[in-house]
Amino acid sequence: MSQQQEEHLYAARVPIFPRSVKGRFRSVKYAILVLAYGVYFMLPWLRWHRDNGPDQAVIFDLKARLFYVFDMIIHPQDIFLLAAFLTLAALLLFFVTSVAGRVFCGYFCFQTLWTDVFIMIERLVQGERPARIRLSKQPWGMEKAVKLGLTHLLWLLVAFWTGLTFVLYWGDAPTLFVEFFTGKAPFPAYATALFLTATTYVMAGLAREQVCIYMCPYSRFQSAMFDKDTLVVSYDAKRGEGTAGRHKIAKGFKTREERHEKGVGDCIDCGYCVQVCPTGIDIRNGLQVPCIQCALCIDACDTIMDSLGWERGLIGYYSENQLEGKKTRFFKWKTLGYGLALAAVVGFMTWLVASEQPLDMHVRKLRQPLYVELSDGSIQNSYDIKINNKTSEPVRVRMEISGLPGARADFGRFREVEIRPQHYVRLLGKVSLKPAPGTPKRQNFSFRAVPIEPADLPPVEAPARFFIP
Ligand code: SF4
Ligand code: SF4
Repeated sequence: MSQQQEEHLYAARVPIFPRSVKGRFRSVKYAILVLAYGVYFMLPWLRWHRDNGPDQAVIFDLKARLFYVFDMIIHPQDIFLLAAFLTLAALLLFFVTSVAGRVFCGYFCFQTLWTDVFIMIERLVQGERPARIRLSKQPWGMEKAVKLGLTHLLWLLVAFWTGLTFVLYWGDAPTLFVEFFTGKAPFPAYATALFLTATTYVMAGLAREQVCIYMCPYSRFQSAMFDKDTLVVSYDAKRGEGTAGRHKIAKGFKTREERHEKGVGDCIDCGYCVQVCPTGIDIRNGLQVPCIQCALCIDACDTIMDSLGWERGLIGYYSENQLEGKKTRFFKWKTLGYGLALAAVVGFMTWLVASEQPLDMHVRKLRQPLYVELSDGSIQNSYDIKINNKTSEPVRVRMEISGLPGARADFGRFREVEIRPQHYVRLLGKVSLKPAPGTPKRQNFSFRAVPIEPADLPPVEAPARFFIP
C-alpha cells in the first residue's frame, strides 16, 4: 500500500458538540436513561430474603459458584440458560431491527446511554453548543483549564462509579464497598473497577461516536436486516426540497405558499437537525452508517416546524416504500420468521425455568474395571453418582435402584444422605447381579434418589447401564 493511499484512509476526528433539544423522542430517551441507570446502579443494593443464601437480590456468588437473580438460582450446569438468553437477545435484536431499524442503538445501547450522560455533563460544565465550540477554539487559559478539567473529572467519577457498581454484583455489595475503600477487597475487584473506569471514560468520553462508526460491528451488518419496509429515521426529501431545493427563510420565502410557488420545499436549511446529532451527520443526505437512529433530529425539526406553524414530520420514522408513496408492509416473511423464532426461544426458556427440578442427579459408569466377578458368582458394576440440591433447604434422600430385577445396590453408609442447600454430594454406588442363563449382557436401569425430608419433593432418577461379561 502506498503512502498516498494510507493518508486517504486516515480521517482525523472532527470534534462534535451536540446541541440540546426538547421533544417526544428526547423525553422517551430520558425515561429509558433514568430506568437503565436506576436498575444498573441500584440493583446491587437491593436486599432479598433467602433462608439459605446471600440476601442480595442479584449476585454472582463466586465462592458458591451460583448466580442469584431474585428467586431464581442459576447453577454452572445451567449454562444453556445463558446460551438461550443470548439467542433470545440476538433474535429480539433482529426482529426489532427488521421492523424499526436501529432502535436498540438509539435508545438502549450502553454506548448511547453513557455517551448521553457524558454529553450532559459536558453541557452542564461548559455550556450550550456555541459556548463549547468557542471554548475548544480559544487558547489555553484559566477558564479553559478549569472547565475542561472539571468535565474530565466528572467523567472519570461516572466511569469509576460504573466500574465499581459492576464489581458490587460479584459479592455482598455493602461489605465489598467497605472493603474496596479500606484496601481489603480482593485484587480482581480493583483490577476490574480500574479496567471498566478506563474503558467507560475512553468509550463514552473520548471516543464517543467513533465507537459507533468504526468499532461497532452492528452498524455494518444491519443492512442485511433492513428492507424497503423497515422504519428508519428519514428526511422526507420530496417535501423538504420540492422541485427547486431547500431555502432559508428570507424575503419572498417566508410562507409555505410563497415557497411552493417557487418550487422550494419546507426545509428552511436552519441546520438544527445537524447540530443536535450526536454523530454529527446530516440526515438530509439519506441513511448513513453513523446514524444511530436516536431520533433527536426528528425532535429538532419538529421544533422548527412547530415554530413556523407547519405540520410536523419533515424528518420522521419512514420506510423507503412510504417515502416513495407506497404502503409499508409490516407482515413480511422475514419479520414473521424472526417473530416465530423469538416466540420459540421464549417458549423454550419458559419451559426450562418452569420445569426445573429441585434435585438433579448424574450417574457415570466407572469403567476401570468395567465389572468385577464376586466370589458368589455375582457380577458387580460401580458408578459415580452426583446429586445436586438446588433448593434453599437441606434435603435428605434415600438411594435405590429400579429396573434391574434381582440386583442389589450398595451405597456404603450413604443409602440415606443429607445434601446441604445449593450443594451436591458425590457417592459410589455398587450394583451386583447374579446372572441366570440367558440374562442380557447389557441392561438399562435407573438410580433413584427419593426425598425423605422434605418428603413432598419429587424423586429424581438417572439412567445407567449394567454390564455382564
Ligand atoms: S441523523 Fe438523526 S437519528 Fe441519526 S444519529 Fe443523527 S440525530 Fe440521531
Ligand atoms: S431541522 Fe428541519 S428545517 Fe431545519 S435544516 Fe433540518 S430538516 Fe431542514
